[in-house]
Amino acid sequence: MDNLLFCQIASAGFYALLFFCDLLKKQLPTKRTVFFQLFLCAMMLDAIFSIDVILSQRYGETVMLNEAMLVVELLTQVACCVTLHLYIMAVAFKLGKNPVTMVIFGIIPVCILLTFVLLSPWLGIAYEFDQLGHMHRNIWYNVGQIILLLEFVIDLVVIWVSDIKYTARRRMLYSFMILIFILAIIFEISNSTLSALWQIGMIFFIYIFYLAQQSPDFYIDNTTGYFNRNGFLEVLYEEVQYQIPFSCLLVRVRDFTSMNQIYSAEILQKIQLEIGEIFTESSKGGIIYHIGSSTYAIMLRSRSNAEVLYYRLKDRISEIWNIDDVMVNHEYSYYELTYPEYGTDYEEIVQKIHYARSDHEAHHKAGELIHLQEGVGKDAERRQEIAHLIETAIMDNSIEIHFQPIFSFEEDSITSLEVLARLRDENRNYINPEYFIRIAEENHTIVQLGKQIFEKACIFAGKNHIFDMGIEEMSINLSPEQCRDEHLTEDLVEIASKHGIPMERIHLEITESEFEDKKAVEETLYRLKETGAKIALDDFGTGFSTLSNILSLPVDYVKIDKSLVWSFAEGKNQFLNDLMPMLKAEGKQIIAEGIENTEHIDIIKQLQGDYLQGYYYSKPLSEPEFLRFLKRFNHSEKSGAEA
Ligand code: C2E
Ligand code: CA
Ligand code: CA
Repeated sequence: MDNLLFCQIASAGFYALLFFCDLLKKQLPTKRTVFFQLFLCAMMLDAIFSIDVILSQRYGETVMLNEAMLVVELLTQVACCVTLHLYIMAVAFKLGKNPVTMVIFGIIPVCILLTFVLLSPWLGIAYEFDQLGHMHRNIWYNVGQIILLLEFVIDLVVIWVSDIKYTARRRMLYSFMILIFILAIIFEISNSTLSALWQIGMIFFIYIFYLAQQSPDFYIDNTTGYFNRNGFLEVLYEEVQYQIPFSCLLVRVRDFTSMNQIYSAEILQKIQLEIGEIFTESSKGGIIYHIGSSTYAIMLRSRSNAEVLYYRLKDRISEIWNIDDVMVNHEYSYYELTYPEYGTDYEEIVQKIHYARSDHEAHHKAGELIHLQEGVGKDAERRQEIAHLIETAIMDNSIEIHFQPIFSFEEDSITSLEVLARLRDENRNYINPEYFIRIAEENHTIVQLGKQIFEKACIFAGKNHIFDMGIEEMSINLSPEQCRDEHLTEDLVEIASKHGIPMERIHLEITESEFEDKKAVEETLYRLKETGAKIALDDFGTGFSTLSNILSLPVDYVKIDKSLVWSFAEGKNQFLNDLMPMLKAEGKQIIAEGIENTEHIDIIKQLQGDYLQGYYYSKPLSEPEFLRFLKRFNHSEKSGAEA
């Protein structure tokens, strides 16, 4: 058996193997995958027909059959080139709706095909037969090959100039793929013996290429068998490149990290598999991706499909799992992302996906469907930057604190102050405290940050002897998240004593919220009270705190939220009329926030409030500003009163 024949048989066998293996595997739904399969198919057919041609040439078939074989072989060869070309165009996202590129990249293969058909042996242009009936290729055959070669040169250029976000390594790999074809054509034209050997070389390269870039394994998640994040991003990118509308439902198991600490991996995996089955059954027509340990994405064609699926899943996925007699409580977050309605930029969409993949428990209720509309992803980006700034501030001990005076009716002077944290961004502008505090809470960095704020407040109080300047106590905010820290009480006591501040001087303001761990907060508050500190319930009236909560918690002060003060002043509610006497009867002292004018003062005075805080007296001030304010205010009030 001669070399050529051997090479062709080996190639045919190999391509057949690769093609059928690939066919049996789960395939990512991209154009790229389809063309690669077609390419493998063409390579296989080409190798098979080449065997046939060689055999019929060797064993003396009729010239007619020989010609028919040649035509078929030629066509399969062209098919190899065309499918590879289309594959490369798919890789470069050039198969889109743009008519110009459509013409350039679609017409080229058709021209090549025509050229070849015209060069077919039947027309006798590219082949000549000698007296013995042996066939020879002439110069026109080589012209045809050179046209093919040019096509690949164009492909090579496209890979390097097109604006795709591939790494140089990946572009290099595609270029090699094209180069081996260019070499094959050159060997073919030069009728070199290398041509046969090169067939084997191509096999190796195409296999390596397959494993490195095209293999479905790269896109499949081992535990669930779904496509993984790589696959998801790949599909997403293609959809955006071709502007194909889609809708995506993202489902995340909430608090998965703590789940991991509580339950064994085996149990969680079982749940994962069961959830997977429900997905498969419920999402007919949708493609499921497992894009993070706790997050799934289901790609659908329309928004209404995504919503239907959401309701179906909400019904079917239980919140309590019984796995091997272990009860596991699972909560889920659902997000819906529709392209192009919710943003057209790929990066923006990926940001939104990141957003859906991370915890925002404080914002969204479990089971609710969240629409990842315009702006949501940007928010996620900013949040990450701020989270980073918070970490830096903790490390550099660089959080700033400002002070807002609190006025006492009884003393007719400033007797208290609230410590308010301040964080600056990259341009040294202040970041909205509510915003960064919330992020710190979600990242649990509030524990460290809170201690730092507390210590800075103590240093400020000790250094400036504020308790000798008419100040009776200092209010510091405490986030419910900090209450979950077991060492909180000891730590605060230690810090205060280190700076010589008696705990009796300290008021801790705590905001009630729907989400916190009520029990932990309550226990911590009792422990804190034992140290002598006083507790103030912050933001009363914003919706979360109820009267029964105040009565059940060890609270000494209640801070009426500014919104309640303002709406009362505008006559929009009468709530304070009933509330204030009730609180007074329970022995609580009342601080009214958001006092901006004398009308507000009068109202609170009538209602027998105890303290006032607001811009009427002062905005939060920096340390030197506050000290100056305090001296001036308390002094002039005093002298005013004496006069
Ligand atoms: P908060 O505890 O309710 O603080 C009072 C907020 O109301 C402050 O906003 C203050 O500047 C503002 N305010 C006071 N009087 C008036 C007024 O008359 N009119 C208006 N329009 N606003 C007034 P700030 O400093 O932006 O703080 C916002 C929130 O951030 C705080 O609300 C608190 O929940 C949180 N926060 C600030 N510092 C800390 C901290 O050190 N730790 C914790 N856990 N939270 C903090
Ligand atoms: Ca407060
Ligand atoms: Ca408040």
